[in-house]
Amino acid sequence: MNGFDTIIVVDWSARSAPSPAKPARDAIFIATSRGPDTEPEITYHRTRDAATTALITLLQAECAAGRRSLAGFDFPFGYPSGFARAVTGSDDPLILWQALADHIKDAPDNRNNRFAVATELNNLFPGLGPFWGCPPAHANPDLPARGSLRHGHGQAERREVERRLPRAQPCWKLFTTGSVGSQVLLGLPRLQQLRRHFGAALSVSPFQPPDTPIVLAEIYPSLLASQVKAARRENEILDAAQVRVLATALHRLPPAALAHMLTEGDAEEGWILGLGHEEVLDAGPDLIPPPLQNDCFALPPGVDWTPVPTALSRLRATLRPVVGQEIVPLARANTRRLATELHAKRANPPRPNSAVDGFGFAHAATGSGPQVLRLAQGRAAAGIPFKGTLPKGQALRILTGASLPDGVDTVVLEEDCTITDTAIAFHGPVKPGSNTRKAGEDVAEGQQLVPKSHRLRPPDLALLAATGHASIPVFQRLKVAVISTGDELREAGDRATADQIYDANRPMLAGLLQAWGHEVIDLGRLPDDPARIRAALTEGAQADAILTSGGASSGDEDHISKLLGSEGQLSSWRIALKPGRPLALAMWQGTPVFGLPGNPVAALVCTLIFARPALDLMAGGGWTDPLRLRLPAGFTKSKKPGRAEYLRARLTPDGQVETFKSEGSGRISGLSWAEGLVELPPEAMTITPGTPVTYLPYAGFGL
Ligand code: AMP
Ligand code: MG
Repeated sequence: MNGFDTIIVVDWSARSAPSPAKPARDAIFIATSRGPDTEPEITYHRTRDAATTALITLLQAECAAGRRSLAGFDFPFGYPSGFARAVTGSDDPLILWQALADHIKDAPDNRNNRFAVATELNNLFPGLGPFWGCPPAHANPDLPARGSLRHGHGQAERREVERRLPRAQPCWKLFTTGSVGSQVLLGLPRLQQLRRHFGAALSVSPFQPPDTPIVLAEIYPSLLASQVKAARRENEILDAAQVRVLATALHRLPPAALAHMLTEGDAEEGWILGLGHEEVLDAGPDLIPPPLQNDCFALPPGVDWTPVPTALSRLRATLRPVVGQEIVPLARANTRRLATELHAKRANPPRPNSAVDGFGFAHAATGSGPQVLRLAQGRAAAGIPFKGTLPKGQALRILTGASLPDGVDTVVLEEDCTITDTAIAFHGPVKPGSNTRKAGEDVAEGQQLVPKSHRLRPPDLALLAATGHASIPVFQRLKVAVISTGDELREAGDRATADQIYDANRPMLAGLLQAWGHEVIDLGRLPDDPARIRAALTEGAQADAILTSGGASSGDEDHISKLLGSEGQLSSWRIALKPGRPLALAMWQGTPVFGLPGNPVAALVCTLIFARPALDLMAGGGWTDPLRLRLPAGFTKSKKPGRAEYLRARLTPDGQVETFKSEGSGRISGLSWAEGLVELPPEAMTITPGTPVTYLPYAGFGL
């Protein structure tokens, strides 16, 4: 099963009397979202009993209609580790739910016995606590009025999830502001009521696999505080705005990302759905930028030949990202461009650990000269920590990647020791902390990992995985349509007369676009026929950009430039470069068109130099310059002034740049022979072996 048809978000209340008849804050609000783009329905409930009845009716109707529901509640589903066992004898939090349901009495008018139950629970623990806070009428020696009066009860103050979210309130406080404790005591029995009612059709995240028609999850509405602040409407009650915004945000998540989030967290303490994924929850699909302006390629009047750098800076200034965002699992994030900068969700390594296989001990107990340490029982291995504290003066077997146990701060290499069954010996002194890795020495929690727009490569995926990222916000792929034109073209492999040639540009352009992470829309090969070309351009206007090749100059059969000129907004850029006649830049029904020369050599050069950075920018990747290396020439050439030149080139084994034997722009073999381009400036130049030239490896274009 995947995806939820209905997302319900509940803001709970621990009031002891019915809420006012007119919707008021701190009462129960329920948002029901039936689609990512549908306004959630908000209902207000004066009592827990009424809200529970309404939820049962709602969930029953959804189930009957075959619709899957996720219901989120804003109170903890569990207590700090150890509490459940102390109360019920089991670590299973759902057994604790039943125990609470057995003891809590919560009348239809909200009157309840939570202070009495909290007192009983406190009596199960030594000292005083952990529950605290009550109105004077309920004061008793076993339920302290102030948190600071508690002592010796042995329970942790916070769950792990609350340690990560310091502004969340712990679950022990029962009275006055932020009394999460009362919400839990009066909430879990009601959830238990839902569990009883729906049986196997309902599961509780993260305690059970979330693969049932109804899933319950713990939520925390102020996780999206800034989004709520921005989206809150005039006179809207904060609680209502929170459930509304969160229901929509959850509904807009890709089903796979939400399914993954529902499995995260602690099997005993529970977890807040979506914690650590705020950037994903915050990224709505409505972030699609406005379209480009029709005149964006216009050149200032009077411009004739445009130097390459000028052409590039014009493109850079006029284009901008045109894609929306989406969330993808890490496994599918390679080559994608990050939509936001990402920070480490956990440190790497998360705890101090051993860098070698060896023996760990406390450095303070060692000195110089021969050292003999008694070997303790047990060992510490990666993922299987040694529980307990190592006594000073003893050594413990420890393996690479194992967390350092208490009492160990230094590790000696196994190869440096003499080992018996009961002791090890080695030569001191050893440096304190040797052979250990400090927590966070690689990456600290919260540290910036990769900047926005970065195009993810496999090593980046390793870093993101290691620091706790499972799904990440990326820009949607740029859709680029590709069209070849020319009466002489046939599809590779088809029958062709000796006057016809195979379309070489389309496979090349599609391959380039794929390598750059764009989505290719292949609109095929067209004859030099204005009507067919017009139809294809119009189809291509559905994409984010169009690449055409052929027919781009001003000859009789150059219909691309004719059409773009008469029916689109064309700027023929006469760029001072060779090879490459005019590059036709145009807008066709709001979509930019890069009209490339038909010649495969010129088509490749123009795509690498102009289309690549332009498309990168439109795809959210920022402006990217190719890698330029200064290297000695291994060839001779005398260059005329006027235009920049790009030669097909590659490196010789001794690091010189050699060029292809012919500069003919029809020589496709040279493109394949080459591993890069030599870029020569517009000025006249005499090149002899050893002259420094600028080499642009294909690899530096992301190929
Ligand atoms: P054009 O820009 O249409 O004048 O074409 C210039 C040269 O490139 C001509 O020799 C065309 O035959 C050739 N050409 C055009 N398109 C392609 C293509 N898709 N594949 C191979 N050669 C092409
Ligand atoms: Mg042609």
